[in-house]
Amino acid sequence: MEKCAWTAVDRATVFDFCDGYISYLNAGKTERLCVTITEEMAKNAGFVPLDTVDNLTAGMKVYQVNRAKNIVLAVIGKEPITAGVNLVAAHIDSPRVDLKPNPLYEDSGMAMVKTHYYGGIKKYQWTAIPLSLIGVVVRADGSVVDINIGEEATDPVFTITDLLPHLAVEQMSKKMTEAFTGEDLNALIGSLPSDDDKDKYKDNILTLIREKYGFEEEDFISAELELVPTFPARSLGLDSSMIGAYGQDDRVCAYTALAGILELTNPTRTAVCFLADKEEIGSVGNTGMKSRFFENFLAHLASKCGGYTDLTLREILTNSMCLSADVTAGMDPNYKSVCEPLNSAYMGGGLAICKYTGARGKSSTSDANAEFVAKVRGIFNQNNITWQICELGKVDQGGGGTVAQYIANLDVDTLDVGVPLLSMHAPFEVASKVDVYMAYLGYKAFYLA
Ligand code: MN
Ligand code: MN
Repeated sequence: MEKCAWTAVDRATVFDFCDGYISYLNAGKTERLCVTITEEMAKNAGFVPLDTVDNLTAGMKVYQVNRAKNIVLAVIGKEPITAGVNLVAAHIDSPRVDLKPNPLYEDSGMAMVKTHYYGGIKKYQWTAIPLSLIGVVVRADGSVVDINIGEEATDPVFTITDLLPHLAVEQMSKKMTEAFTGEDLNALIGSLPSDDDKDKYKDNILTLIREKYGFEEEDFISAELELVPTFPARSLGLDSSMIGAYGQDDRVCAYTALAGILELTNPTRTAVCFLADKEEIGSVGNTGMKSRFFENFLAHLASKCGGYTDLTLREILTNSMCLSADVTAGMDPNYKSVCEPLNSAYMGGGLAICKYTGARGKSSTSDANAEFVAKVRGIFNQNNITWQICELGKVDQGGGGTVAQYIANLDVDTLDVGVPLLSMHAPFEVASKVDVYMAYLGYKAFYLA
């Protein structure tokens, strides 16, 4: 069912909204930067840290940051919290190339860094493009050095080299999974020698690091440094109807879920926006969706809304409902064969609902209940949201997962609802501006349902 969301909107309004999204993408190229900018936007909208409030009443706006990489916002509803919350959950980590704990070495007159890629990438896409180095280095005394090199026009950038076609006869005849290995993704970081006799290229980089950033080689061990595409988010197409950018999986849903909750004033039910880390590697760790952090946050809300007991928390979860806000595959005219046209998301077709994701016979998906799909469809219809139903590709073509299954495991009704992308997980992903706008309208309507 091909729909066209453009017929239902004022185009200037859509373009204006997406200018804000483009700024968010440019300011938030890592999960840490996303948390920083999200917290700033939350404060400006009147949200306060949860631990600064003793009692919560209807209309109050609070947030909590989890270890600088995961943030949750809530607007307290008029109904008691035990009636459940309306949750929109997205993720702010994106595929990229991380530095190894012991990264620095030299070879053939150049200083290099070893990397370990993060998430599902097609490795060849990350070679021969400019990369920025962003993250933190934590010294043994606990002090933190913020690193952000490459984002300013005057900054140097980094790159992972690729082989010239002239000498690539053997490489070009290999399978793509074998032509580029993870251990080959070493990035260039310098080529000036120091006065030392030994390791003079590596040594020169270490001297620069010591002078400019004040840390030592061993400090790399307690660092989180990410190589991400340097180019900024841009409008795409002669008509500027699309956005081309790094990190739209899943910052497109994060931004739209956030924009929605920031505008709420007095919702009936408590609205919660959860921006998770670690989705791209399985929602693991204490900043991922599988962590107890989400339940702990609800427990604190309960305690400040009139009293926490274990049973209160269970009651909140049972009565809650959730949109798992994550991107899906858009129908790509260049790769139509992997999609089944009746059950695919189309660019510009509006917000995409996936009843299930998964692979190999719906494996590893929560497969939302028909009753809840009907409820969400009803909410969208009542609010004139253009939406479409989809699967992620043909049966047995591949598949994927989201945070949906982990939230569903908590006894929460959960449905995947997000924005279709082209070139997902590539350094430059494509979204339709009208789908971005529909996501914002859809998530906002859901908070208020
Ligand atoms: Mn995603
Ligand atoms: Mn992804």
